[in-house]
Amino acid sequence: MIKVTCLGAAGSVTGSNYLIENSQGKKVLVDCGLFQGGKQIESRNWHNWGFDPTQIHTLFLTHAHIDHSGRIPKLVKDGFRGKIITSPPTAELCQIMLLDSAHIQEMDAEWQTRKDKRKGKKETLPLYTTKDATQSLQYLSSTERDQIITVEPGIRARLRNAGHILGSSIVELWFEEDNEETKLVFSGDLGKQNQLIIKDPHEIFAADYLFIESTYGNRVHRPFEDSKKELLEAIQYALSHEEKVIIPAFALERTQEILYLLGEFYRDKILPNIPVYLDSPLAIQATQIFRKNKKYYDEQARAIVDQGFDPFDMPNLHFTPTTEESIAINETPGSAIIIAASGMCTAGRIKHHLKHNLWRPGASIIIVGFQAQGTTGRKIVDGEKQVKIFRENVAVKAKVFTIGGFSAHADQKDLLEWVNHFTESRPKVFVVHGEATASEALATMIREKFGMEVHVPKWKESLLLKAREVVREEVPAEVIPIEISQAMLNKVIDLEHEIEKLKKRLKEKDEKATITDEDVSKLEYIQEELQGILPE
Ligand SMILES: [Zn+2]
Repeated sequence: MIKVTCLGAAGSVTGSNYLIENSQGKKVLVDCGLFQGGKQIESRNWHNWGFDPTQIHTLFLTHAHIDHSGRIPKLVKDGFRGKIITSPPTAELCQIMLLDSAHIQEMDAEWQTRKDKRKGKKETLPLYTTKDATQSLQYLSSTERDQIITVEPGIRARLRNAGHILGSSIVELWFEEDNEETKLVFSGDLGKQNQLIIKDPHEIFAADYLFIESTYGNRVHRPFEDSKKELLEAIQYALSHEEKVIIPAFALERTQEILYLLGEFYRDKILPNIPVYLDSPLAIQATQIFRKNKKYYDEQARAIVDQGFDPFDMPNLHFTPTTEESIAINETPGSAIIIAASGMCTAGRIKHHLKHNLWRPGASIIIVGFQAQGTTGRKIVDGEKQVKIFRENVAVKAKVFTIGGFSAHADQKDLLEWVNHFTESRPKVFVVHGEATASEALATMIREKFGMEVHVPKWKESLLLKAREVVREEVPAEVIPIEISQAMLNKVIDLEHEIEKLKKRLKEKDEKATITDEDVSKLEYIQEELQGILPE
């Protein structure tokens, strides 16, 4: 009997982490990602693991995105000494991604500490440090895809191309027990059909149990050709006004896709003759890794290489790794294309470029990635007249182009087509890695279209998988004790203050002191947050 516990990316899209145990108690993990997207869900990063990290002998890592890899330094810090099996490009990308994540953790903790000190509170420690991240890299073990490896007697595995980002993999796992074999497939994040640069997801024909992502389980992407046209129009708009084009982009994959398209425009002689700046040290490093890993390109990208071009280059492209170079960009008049992180405009050099250009009529702001609620990027997309950048109100006078076709995820149609390849053995399906509505929508479609048995597991739910028979077992909350760190305690104190303030206002008789919708949602948020971090 195999037991799978969904410890992350179940009922949500971040924090990917699945624990798999066989009857002999051997434990492996698939992914070890960071929970992201607001205080409440991020508090889970501080919870107990739900297993003993010293007891895990293998971690299969699907890809380098932080929501799949970002808790690896903490796992190693907490005692993991096994192997992290992943594709060679993922191992390379992790070297830069995990260090960058550690840097962010350190900066966040520092900021929190500075803020708390004024209230007489204690220091906040980062989730992990740069040193922890560096230490964790030694456990990465590059394994080429498409070959079966034995990780333990009775446990075999194979990585397959997932077509999501460079190096991304599907994990196939075989467990042998009592002369019976059970095959599990974890899709990881699946790419869409005809994605730029990398090959389409590998088709798999048989499994007993399938764990499939559902980020876009209820959506169909817009045609990519439209997005390409919109990108060119946005560039031409700024050029005609002699203003700049600002593209906030995620350092990994999205940036390389933009460079790839600009390269295509250049070879087709439709790219205006203006400088292109890649103004993000992390994106520059990631692009170098893409350049090194040509053997993972798809046919079209290979053809560009065979014609003697670098798919990510054009004559006017400038890398600006240093701060001085970055500042110089805004001192240069005239049109230019500037690609900078962060993708949601919440941090990094993009903030400087927005401060210099957002208020300028004629400039173009091109949004090519998902913008979470509350971020500066979201405010720009939502058409706010001004946004706060570095404590300053900046008017939004530039033209905002929101281009939706750049997702690196399979949409509902792609996901269903991929599931339909399981013709040799129809698996029982568990839909994970999606918001509840997206997961449920995909589950319904799989049931209706293919007649498969489908279940959407909840966070921390355990599934007992027999040979083709599944028994659900809810793990009682007390089995996973929740650790309350100092940082969490500080947060509880903060929340108590908020509640006190609201209670006071509730008691006030003044008519002006009525409770607004905003107060109600604040209270609900606080309640959820408390539930998320306090032991039951
Ligand atoms: Zn991903």
